[in-house]
Amino acid sequence: MKCQVKDELVSQLMALNNKLNLLSPDLVHGDEERAEVQQRRESLYAEIKHHRAKGHDGKPCPAAGRV
Ligand SMILES: [Zn+2]
Repeated sequence: MKCQVKDELVSQLMALNNKLNLLSPDLVHGDEERAEVQQRRESLYAEIKHHRAKGHDGKPCPAAGRV
């Protein structure tokens, strides 16, 4: 089963992961930006978790388990 909502959330998560990888450790504001991206990633994780558990009218996502 496919789930567009889940796919969308996961691709957002991928984008954040990529962004995190691209942030060079010796950037002047790197730490600050990294912390911000980390935070957005955490809340995205929470959203995905919630969607998988009860994102479909209180029921589990049919695409869960294939993140
Ligand atoms: Zn779903």
